[in-house]
Amino acid sequence: MVHTDKCPNCGSMNIGEGTWTGYAALMPKGKKFSNGAPVEVSVCRDCGHLFCFRTTKPEKF
Ligand SMILES: [Zn+2]
Repeated sequence: MVHTDKCPNCGSMNIGEGTWTGYAALMPKGKKFSNGAPVEVSVCRDCGHLFCFRTTKPEKF
């Protein structure tokens, strides 16, 4: 998978990918699901800026 993301903070192309699960999972507001949706985020390896938050299960919302 090729990522062409660019850091919106410092302009670096040195971008990593992270996933938040567990307690940091995003929960649909006002809906009762047993678990939330994992959140993926892009991380700038140069300045540490986190951006491009997205969930892998947008249909839950
Ligand atoms: Zn950066």
